[in-house]
Parts: sequence; C-alpha cells; structure tokens
Amino acid sequence: MAIIGIDLGTTNSLACIYRGGRVERIPNELGEYKTSSAVSVLGDGTVLVGAAAKERLVSHPEATAASFKIWMGTEKALTLGGRVFKPEELSALVLRQLLEDARRYLGEAVEEAVISVPAYFNDDQRCATKLAAQLAGLNVKRLINEPSAAALYHRYSTQTGDCQLMIVDFGGGTLDVSIVECFENIIEITAIAGDNHLGGDDIDRAIAAHFCQENGLTEERLDPTLRASLYRQAETAKIALSSAPAASIFLQQGEKRYSLVLTSGLLRQLCAPVFQKVRKVITRAMKDRERGGRIHDVILVGGSAQLPVFGDFLEELFGRRPHVAAAPDEIVALGVGLCAGIKERAEDLQDLVMTDVCPFSLGVSTCSYVGDKTPHMAVLIPRSSMLPASHQERFVTLQDNQQGLRFEIYQGEGYFASENLKLGEVVVRVPPGPAGEQSALVTFTYDIDGILHVSAKSSGGDYRDRLILNPKLRLTDEGKARAMERIRQIQLAAQGTQRNQLLLERGLRLYEQTTGRLRNLTGQLVGYWKWVMSQGGLIEQQRNYERVKEQMDWLEAQAEADPLEEDFWYDEGEDKAFFEGLEGEEEDEL
Ligand code: ADP
Ligand code: MG
Repeated sequence: MAIIGIDLGTTNSLACIYRGGRVERIPNELGEYKTSSAVSVLGDGTVLVGAAAKERLVSHPEATAASFKIWMGTEKALTLGGRVFKPEELSALVLRQLLEDARRYLGEAVEEAVISVPAYFNDDQRCATKLAAQLAGLNVKRLINEPSAAALYHRYSTQTGDCQLMIVDFGGGTLDVSIVECFENIIEITAIAGDNHLGGDDIDRAIAAHFCQENGLTEERLDPTLRASLYRQAETAKIALSSAPAASIFLQQGEKRYSLVLTSGLLRQLCAPVFQKVRKVITRAMKDRERGGRIHDVILVGGSAQLPVFGDFLEELFGRRPHVAAAPDEIVALGVGLCAGIKERAEDLQDLVMTDVCPFSLGVSTCSYVGDKTPHMAVLIPRSSMLPASHQERFVTLQDNQQGLRFEIYQGEGYFASENLKLGEVVVRVPPGPAGEQSALVTFTYDIDGILHVSAKSSGGDYRDRLILNPKLRLTDEGKARAMERIRQIQLAAQGTQRNQLLLERGLRLYEQTTGRLRNLTGQLVGYWKWVMSQGGLIEQQRNYERVKEQMDWLEAQAEADPLEEDFWYDEGEDKAFFEGLEGEEEDEL
C-alpha cells in the first residue's frame, strides 16, 4: 500500500508520492497541486475544503476558517456555521480532502502518510498533528520537520558537493531556519530555530493596520465581511508587488470609499518589525551549531520567501542575495514525498540518510531546597541534540519519609520551570527513609518524530511510563473514537463539484466586495451560474463554465482596477457585451 507525503501548511497543503523512481505531486480536483488550508461549512452541513472555502472567508466569514494551524495544540475552539471545531478537527478535514484527491489520482485508498510539521512545533503541536491524522483515518509513519524535508529534496535534486546550507522557510504563519550539513549521502540538520507565529499573515496584518490608520478607520469596528475583504486585498497587493511597482487597495463602506497605494518602499517599512524578528531567529540558528564553518548557500523556501523586499532584507544581512528555491512553495512537500519513499524502502533511495535535531530543551522541574517556591528546570535533553535522543538522571528526596517524587515535565529555554511549556507530569512512590536516600531515575527519550516519552523508576521499584501529552489536550480512547466518528460523519463536497462550486463562491465573494454597476453585473452572473449548476446537465455546465469564468475574471479585474486609471468614462457598449452569448440560452431553456 502506498505511503504519501503531506505538507500540511498554514496556508496551503500539498501531497506527494514517490513512485517510478521520482517524486510526483498529487493534483487536487481543480488540477492544482496546492490546496488552500481553508474549511467552510455550507448551509446544508456539507464541508468545503480548498480554494472555494477560501473564497468564503469574505462572503461567509462566520462559517469559514483558515490559518487554524497556528492554534494546533491549544484548546482553542472555532465556531463555523454554528458548529464548534477544534484546530485538529479542521486539520483532519483538510487531510481527508487530500486523501480523497490522492485516492482519485492514484486509484487506490491511502491509509499511511509521512506528515511535515514546522521544526519549531512543540510537543503539544506535534501530538495534535498526529491526532488530526488519526481523526482522518490516517496512520502516521513519521513526522518530519518541514525545513529538513526541504533540505532533503534540495540535496536530492541538485546533487551539489559537500556543503553547509541554511534553509529559511518563510510561509504564511511560521518561520523556520535550519542549518544543514551535506556530506556524501548524509544530510545532517545541525541547528534549528524558528517562530511559530511569524509569516506572511503578519505582513498582511501590518498592511491592513496601515490601511485603517491612513483612512481613519478602526479595524475592530469593521464588519467581518469588510475586514475579510481588506485582508484579502492586502495579500493580493503584497503578492502583486513581486511583479509591479505599486498596487492599490480599496474598501467601500456605504457611500464612503477608502484607498491605499502600496509601494515597495512602504511595504519594506511595514515589514520592518517582522524582519527584525526574522533576524533574531537566523542569529540564533547560527549560534546553536556545535561546529562553526561557513555557509555555502542560503536557500529560501515558502510562499513569503518570494517577496522581493524579503530578498532585499536578507541581501543586506548576508551581503549576498540568497537563492529562492526552484519551487519554493512545493519543495517541502516534495521532500516529504521523498521521505515517504525512504520509508517504503524504495530501492534507489536506500543510501540516503538524514539526521535531525530537537529544537527545544527538555527537562523536569526541581526544587533546590525544602520550600523552594520557584523550582528551576533541570535539563535532560538540551536543544540541538541529535534525534533520537535519550538521557537518564537520578533525583533524590528532599524530606524525611517523603512518600513520592513528582516530576513536572517542561520544554523550553527558561531557567525557571514556570517560564517554559509544561507537557505533563509523572509521579512515583518511594519507600519511607531519610531525606536524600530515596530516589527515582527519570528517563527521557525524544523520538525521531520529535515526540517525548518519559519514564520514572523509584528506588522502591515503583515504575511509571508514559507518552507525554498535555493532560488538558489528551483524549481518552473513548473520546478519540467519538471524535473520529464525528469527523467521519461530515460530508465533504461531492467529487466533481469543486470547480463549479469555486466559481460560484468567487462570484459571491466578488458580490460582497463590489458596489453599483459591478455588483449588479456580478449578481446577474451569479444568478445565471447558479441556474446552470442547478440544471444538472454536465455538458451544459461544461459548455458554460469557460464563458462564465471569463466574465468572472473580467469582473475581478474591474474590481481591482484603479478607478482613475482605467474605469473613468462610461462605455455604453460594455454592459451589453457582457451578457452576450449567455442570455440567449437561459431564455431558451427557461
Ligand atoms: P504555509 O507553508 O504557511 O502554508 P506557504 O509557504 O504556501 O505557506 O506561503 C503562504 C504565504 O506566502 C502567504 O502568506 C502568502 O501571502 C505568501 N505568498 C505566496 N506567494 C507569494 C508571492 N509571490 N509573493 C509574496 N508572498 C507570497
Ligand atoms: Mg510551508
């Protein structure tokens, strides 16, 4: 049975498979490799995943969610169309859609996968990712760090000589920086640093905030649709700057029209605080390496790495412009696909070896004296240890006849335990005896997936062994079965309907965004397309699809156009021409 590789991204997700001696990208129903990590609940309870769902962020913000990966491993609940979802459940729905697409493409069901996670994901976030896969009915063969996957594919596809690389993965919601040593067939990750809350979304947010400030608007007071439209336009304008000197953003609220012209200079200024944080992460990765040595190349991956202003910033930092990877937003998925091939023991990949490190220090809280109110963290596995890592340490009682030893398990770099993330705890009983005589041996094992296992054995023989999971986030077997059933019950949009649905959702979003004449035209087009869709005749739908899409593209271009540049003088012929070729048929059939 096939194992696929999945890049479950904040913004976009992608699946790949290794077969016939190469990594293949798996297209979705729209024929695209990237599937938006967006989920929307329709009126009838059906769930849309992907581009059509992303459109609904504007038209149906209360029923739609995106970027929920940033909530993975937390107790955050999101309400979509009146139903409450946990972040891992939304991720499970994205996974289900990817599996569905893979099944259609490969002609067989897929039940096993390698999934990538940001290197900087902590234990809770990794466990939540594994849980999401389980909820989608998927067996996870391995979690792999995203930049490591990118490094693996980069090495495999470029076959450069032995070298030291820095991989900077700058996506929608996360930044990961890793340093990689490539020697013959061995790829060794030597340091990892990152920020789980830094990415293109922050840039969009900065643009939106600036827009509001310039126009005297209060962002929190904008209605959700207008706000979603502003964010969407902020992202579009940001991306447009990759190929144009300036881009405009417009917002219409009642009679009032607000606007902003975004230039590269302004974008650079707005990005400054974000880039400052990027700089810190890069510095930390450089310092964390065991061995020094020069960097041969800096490889940029992730959607946001394509920003020219990001390249400018790094060029200033490094004195040389880094390379943007050949397929910056696919390379992680390609690497995960390769990793799936290695897992399947593909003949031609057998001598490829990759080692990884842990991004965080792990330890237990310890009191130095009786009554110590601010316990510190005794580190058992320091960050940047090579995976899998294992370490044991003995802890003794502080009081006479102490009944047990309780170990709180933490992850992080702070001296005081309370500054770090608590992962769980283990308690062992000890026999009575004078202080310092009874003890427990604590063993930490950090596995290849970056998930921690802890055991403690007391001098009295009491033994506790557990996979560490935040108790607040832990599901009982029963709870898990219930959650799986709940996800299984949800209907995803029927196969073959995605393209049409996307066109409809696009129209609905445009309708929300426009006013006046454009809105009128959009409304009529949506009405027409809805009618075509309801007719069920596949050939009829197919025949109309291209034409309606063309009209929609035209409307979109008009909605984005600068009103002073292109759309100033009224042209009588235009509206008429717009419906030529569509109207006749509708009347015929009605
Ligand atoms: P993730 O791995 O977080 O899912 P991606 O690597 O696909 O995300 O990157 C998504 C981010 O990249 C979004 O914030 C998007 O706005 C941004 N992005 C995509 N293409 C471009 C581009 N050409 N220029 C600038 N930013 C881009
Ligand atoms: Mg990514």
